[in-house]
This record gives sequence, structure tokens and C-alpha cells, in this order.
Amino acid sequence: MSQYDYDLFVIGGGSGGVRAARVAAGLGKRVAIAEEYRFGGTCVIRGCVPKKLLVYASQFSEQFEDAAGYGWSVGETSFDWPTLIANKDREIARLENIYRSGVEKAGGTAFHSRAELVDRHTIRLLSGARKVTAGTILVATGGRPSPHMALPGHELTITSNDAFHLDELPKAIVIAGGGYIAVEFANIFHGLGVDTTLIYRGAEILSRFDNDLRRGLHEAMERKGIKILCHDVFAGIEKCGDGGLLARTAKGRELVADQMMLALGRTPNTESLGLENAGVALGPVGDILVDDYSRTNVDNIFALGDVTNRLQLTPVAIHEAMCFVETVFKGNPTKPDLDDVPTAVFSQPEIGTVGLSEEAAAKKLGDLDIYRAAFRPMRNILPGREERTIMKLVVEAGSNRVVGAHILGPDAGEMAQLLGIAVKGRLTKDVFDRTMAVHPTAAEELVTMYQPSYRIRGGERVA
Ligand SMILES: Cc1cc2nc3c(=O)[nH]c(=O)nc-3n(C[C@H](O)[C@H](O)[C@H](O)COP(=O)(O)OP(=O)(O)OC[C@H]3O[C@@H](n4cnc5c(N)ncnc54)[C@H](O)[C@@H]3O)c2cc1C
Repeated sequence: MSQYDYDLFVIGGGSGGVRAARVAAGLGKRVAIAEEYRFGGTCVIRGCVPKKLLVYASQFSEQFEDAAGYGWSVGETSFDWPTLIANKDREIARLENIYRSGVEKAGGTAFHSRAELVDRHTIRLLSGARKVTAGTILVATGGRPSPHMALPGHELTITSNDAFHLDELPKAIVIAGGGYIAVEFANIFHGLGVDTTLIYRGAEILSRFDNDLRRGLHEAMERKGIKILCHDVFAGIEKCGDGGLLARTAKGRELVADQMMLALGRTPNTESLGLENAGVALGPVGDILVDDYSRTNVDNIFALGDVTNRLQLTPVAIHEAMCFVETVFKGNPTKPDLDDVPTAVFSQPEIGTVGLSEEAAAKKLGDLDIYRAAFRPMRNILPGREERTIMKLVVEAGSNRVVGAHILGPDAGEMAQLLGIAVKGRLTKDVFDRTMAVHPTAAEELVTMYQPSYRIRGGERVA
């Protein structure tokens, strides 16, 4: 009999924590997990899932517009925010229950409590003020929207957490940030009829994505009526007449809206967790430092998911959890593989991407052939919608391997999942060329770009 209450104690019932707890319990290990807020974590409760439901809701306005081109008269439409939020909340509650009961059905114990470390084997459960011990501890406490405490009037702003629960849809919103969360919410609010402005300190939204897509999306969003102010930041927020808010910016702009939202990155949840009691080392942004196997500097304490600030995505947290169980409970040391992770931005149009951007590939590999197509997808022709799709393959010259694939256009996220297999499988461009097109689709463009659009040699574009 082990000297500890549990073989594994997981702190945090989000994507990574729940997966690790459920799979380890399924192996017959004595497992407990503590969640202080709601099982399912960021992704299910206030991230990917509710966000995608809001994205779907926001797409109807364009679909109603486009219907006329296909002969439909839609008539007068109206939108009710409380109905959307209530329906969304019902679905989230259903998923939350599945996450919790999944652990319990596998034989694990789920505590609804905040948990903190007392020492390297002891955890304090704040609800009930009890202590338990475990042989292995996994910290999967995720992150939260970074506050901007230095911003005068920051207490008047909202974050993505609040955006899912607003009592009413704002008439106008200003969103600060240029990452995918800021961009997605700008598109959501705009699609729901909100006068939307994005303000971002950088030169272009979505840093680290392929420049073509960044520019293409920027232009598409502006064409729809979303205002994008680059090279500027909030300098202060104050109340103004009629319950509205006024943002003064560093460049002297004055922006009035009824909501000001900050989407300025995320901070790992490591404060007051008792990590110092166990001697767990932290990185520069309060992230937990781990080795290739998600092990901290304390050999029985592991950490994974957003709290380790590697790639902050749900499938990554889940993959790290599976590798953790394989390593610790199956005796098969397995490193998470974080190369060529496909991902999407659920903007309108969508971005789907995998592998190296043209800029990163040019720096890393030097010699590239770029295959690029920009076209109006067939669906947009009858409605007269000008929006164009961009598809791009970044191919290493010499090996002919496709090292990056990038799409801006409808269903780009769905396509990125399949392109992810091709890039992960290190397929060469001639395999794409030999693949029969599916016609008529937008995706057929990916296998019919036979000639390079231009070449890059020694990191420079030549023709
Ligand atoms: C608005 C938004 C949209 C997103 N969209 C996408 C997307 O489209 N695709 C995608 O892949 N990713 C998306 N993400 C990112 C994704 O949600 C995260 O990468 C993922 O949830 C990380 O999982 P995790 O297990 O590391 O942490 P989390 O899911 O954050 O779970 C951590 C859990 O730990 C709990 N906790 C914290 N401290 C304690 C404690 N001391 N005791 C007990 N419990 C504690 C928290 O309450 C939380 O439930 C989005 C995130 C946001 C904010």
C-alpha cells in the first residue's frame, strides 16, 4: 500500500488536467483532481467552445445578405443577445458535466475546490480545509487574461471572460490587442451588428502568422467596416455621458464606446499556488518551467498546458497530458511533439495554417518556392461578395518538401486540419501535384498550383 492518499493529484480541471486524470484513473491509478471554478476549464467554459458558438451566431448577418444572390428573400431579421447567451450557457453546462463525470466514471475523485501545495507531496483543499497527499502531482492550472493594471481606468474594461456574459450587446466596442482572441472577438461583435474598433500597438495584426494572411485579413475586416488602428494603444479609459466610456490613446485619439475590451495576452495561473513551498521553479512570466517530459525541477511534480506557456492551445494541452500519462504511468517516456501544429483563427474570413510562414521559412531555410493563389470563391460570386480567398504553399527548394500551408477563406480551419497531416507527414510538393482535385471546391486550388508564383533564394525574393 502506497504511503500517499493518491497516486496522482491534478490541480486544475481544464483540457489538460481532466485528460490526464481521466486516462490515469482508467489505468487503475488512484487519482484525484481539484477544480476551483468549473470543470472543462478555459476551453469549455470561456474559450474555444463558447467562442465558436458566438462565431456561428455572428456569421448569420452575412449569410442573410448573401441569400438574396441565390434568390432568397429573407425578410426582416432581428437578433436577441440574451437568447444566444442562454443557449450557449445551456450547452456549456452540459459539457461541464461530461468533463467532471468522465473523471468519476473512470474511477477518479473530483473535488470542487481550490487546491494549493503545502509541500512536494501534500495538497491543501481550500473548500473543507483538508489536506491530502499524492505520489505525483500535476499542475494544470491554465492561465487568465493579462490585466493591464498600469492603464488608468483599467477597472472599466472587460476581458474575454466577461465578453461571454455581458447583460446586453454593446452598440459600440473598442478591443485592444492584435492576437487571435482580439481578432476573433472583433469579428464576432461586428457580425452581431456592433460598431467595432480594434486598436493594436504593432504594425499588423496576428504577429507570427504568414504576412500575406495578416494583410489579407486586415483588408477584409476593414472592407466589412471594422476599424483597425495599428501603432496605437490605450492611454487611459474614463466614463463619459450616458454610461459610455471614452478611451484616450497614445496617439491622441478619443474613442467612445459602451465597452472597452482588453485582449493583451494571457498570464499563467501560478500565484498563491504554494509552488514555493515545494521549490518549483518559475520562468520569466510566472510560467512553470518544465523539461521535455513536462517534469518540473521537483521530480514528482509535473506541469502542462497553458501554465507552462509553451503553445497555448487546447489540443496541445491534451497531447501533453497523454504524453505525461505515457511517461509516468506506462513507463514509456514520451516527449510532446510541438512541431507543425495546425491552428485556426475563427475570423471572417477564417485563417487556417500549419508549419512555417513564408517569413520564418525564408529565415530558416533560405531557398523556397512559393505557390500562391488568390481568388473569389465560387460561393461569393452570385451574392456579389468581393472577399477573396488566399491559399499558399511554402515549399523548400531542393527537397521540394511542403514546410508551410496557409489559407485565408471560408472553412480554412477545417482545411488546416487535413493539411496538418500532409505537412506533419513531410510530404513533398509532387505528392500534392499527383493528388486528384475534388471539384468544384475551393480546396482543389491546393493541388492545382503547378508553377511557383515566385521564388526565394538566400532569404530574398527573386522572381
Ligand atoms: C477566448 C479564448 C478562445 C480560445 N480559443 C481557442 C481555440 O479556438 N482553439 C484552441 O486550441 N485553443 C483556444 N483557446 C486556448 C485554450 O482554451 C487553452 O489553451 C486551454 O484551455 C488550456 O488548457 P489547460 O488545461 O492548460 O488550462 P485551462 O483549460 O485554463 O484549465 C485550467 C483550470 O485550472 C483551474 N484552476 C486554476 N488554479 C486552480 C487551483 N489552484 N485549484 C483548482 N483549480 C484551479 C482553472 O479554474 C481552470 O479551470 C482559447 C482561449 C481563450 C481564452
